[in-house]
Amino acid sequence: MQAERFSSTLRLPADSLLILFVGNDLITDASAEPLHSADKMLAFWQKEQNLPDIEWRYIAQREGLPVYCARSFDWQHWPDEFPEHFTRYGFRALLPQLDQSDFELIASGSQLLTWEQDHNYCSRCGHKARMHPIENAMCCDACGYRQYPRINPCIIALITRGDEVLLARNASFKPGYFSCIAGFIEPGESVEQGVQREIFEEVGVTVKNIRYQSSQSWPFPHSLMLGFICDYDSGEIKVDGEEIVEARWGRLDDFPLKPGSFAISGQLMQAFADTIETE
Ligand SMILES: [Zn+2]
Repeated sequence: MQAERFSSTLRLPADSLLILFVGNDLITDASAEPLHSADKMLAFWQKEQNLPDIEWRYIAQREGLPVYCARSFDWQHWPDEFPEHFTRYGFRALLPQLDQSDFELIASGSQLLTWEQDHNYCSRCGHKARMHPIENAMCCDACGYRQYPRINPCIIALITRGDEVLLARNASFKPGYFSCIAGFIEPGESVEQGVQREIFEEVGVTVKNIRYQSSQSWPFPHSLMLGFICDYDSGEIKVDGEEIVEARWGRLDDFPLKPGSFAISGQLMQAFADTIETE
């Protein structure tokens, strides 16, 4: 993949598209369309002399046009009001409105920008690192170490028993909102072991017949969700009351607040619902 960095005084190639982040917010207009002409996106920014420099990075081609992504972490220097009805939208809040190809571009850009920002220095010897001119790699000229984009594999699992599911409410969820069990795979674990461990740690039950369903990039900040459906085996529900504050069995209809189909957790629930309907 081509990787280029420019100062704010240079322009992006003609007809390029730009995804612009300020922190975790996307700058877009009322259409919630996240990709806009770079010239349009940067016109207001280049007029404002007191705005900070931002760096942009090439992501991919979209219908023959190069797509770039840029992020500023310098919140306080950005205006509250943007011209032409542009405003800030939280990336997560926009998820239900994004089509798959837009989501993939934004997820890719967000993760690469975060990785680049977090690896400006060599993690082995501490010298300043530089971007490889062609690869997605941060290179250290002092010791030769290369740092590649990090992706954290996570499991997410729907536990089933007959026509019921066991869903849990994380302490960070809004009241009444339940979802699947999820967590990071630990070093040395197989994916299936990660499913067994996370489920037992979070809700105190054991499971069997772990079936892979699908995966989804989850750029908050750099996870890869591996989705499974599994069958309850044994044990009583037990939550720690800190990370997981509540868990219970029920039919999917018994949980009015749960993830939508844009998230892999919602897709797992739909896949399970489909199997029940066909039985
Ligand atoms: Zn080094």
